[in-house]
Amino acid sequence: MKMAIGVDVGGTNVRVALGSVEGKIVARIAEPIEKTRGPMGVSKQIIRMIYSLIKDKADLRDIKGIGIGAAGPLDIKGGGLMKPTNLPFEYVPLVKPLEEEFNLPVLLLNDCVAAVVGEKYFGIGGEHENLVYVTISTGIGGGVYVDGHLLIGKDGNAHEIGHFTIDFEGRLICGCGRRGHWEAYCSGTGIPNYAKLIIEEGELTGVYESKLLREAYMSGKMSAKTIYDLAKAGDKLAKAIVKKIGMLNAIGFACVVDAYDPTLITVGGSVTLNNPDLIIDPIKHHISEHARNRVPEIILTPLGEDIVLYGALASIFYLHR
Ligand SMILES: [Zn+2]
Repeated sequence: MKMAIGVDVGGTNVRVALGSVEGKIVARIAEPIEKTRGPMGVSKQIIRMIYSLIKDKADLRDIKGIGIGAAGPLDIKGGGLMKPTNLPFEYVPLVKPLEEEFNLPVLLLNDCVAAVVGEKYFGIGGEHENLVYVTISTGIGGGVYVDGHLLIGKDGNAHEIGHFTIDFEGRLICGCGRRGHWEAYCSGTGIPNYAKLIIEEGELTGVYESKLLREAYMSGKMSAKTIYDLAKAGDKLAKAIVKKIGMLNAIGFACVVDAYDPTLITVGGSVTLNNPDLIIDPIKHHISEHARNRVPEIILTPLGEDIVLYGALASIFYLHR
């Protein structure tokens, strides 16, 4: 059996792919995630998408299994999502409904864990026994191999790097409710809040004035995109904010390096994919001010926004259960 189904359950979209053992995606579909049909609506949606994907393309008998990478928090033993951040449900079962429908093995992983599996088998991580994938997207997350072992943890959350505390004064509140966490400052949702904080504290605005950024701030329309686009256009205040974000990212990456001692870190997620140099260069520049361990290679993932799909597919072919 040379084919598998990969599913990426994100905060906004569900993506389903049919792929081969060599890592070739032969067909795919994506839809906005079903939020209005109750906790079972999501698995029903995935089932419908799988049928429509394989129609005319593959026989269920040729499919080895279904891998799912999902934005957590996971209940890995129960095969579902516990109080998912982006869905209005207490619990979303995923594994059991799919197993019952297709009578195939179904494997659920945190989306960043799936991503690092994708990097190892279908990306550039193949040679690395100590490998980390970091996403900077709506949130910040990681997937980690240490000594060739994929880290999972008691509930499947052994890599919640976005909740490392990088500001001991705890000026910003994270989506998880705690203060000072990395993703409260440097994720797609955190960046506008951090920029507001910088503007309000006035330390930079005394030096650099920016009409466009101030307008965005006053109208409440400041986003990560506004800030990075203005920085690319040469706006001095936006550039200074981007630099401060980079310095905090360097602290987060230094914690990752000191915790896991990898030889390679690949970086993805929408914020990184849209601004690869503005995200990665400052990290490389400042990381050795904080990391005690030898600093590894830090590079953009070649798998782009498909990394979770690749990982969900690879998990079926290569993870031993
Ligand atoms: Zn947090």
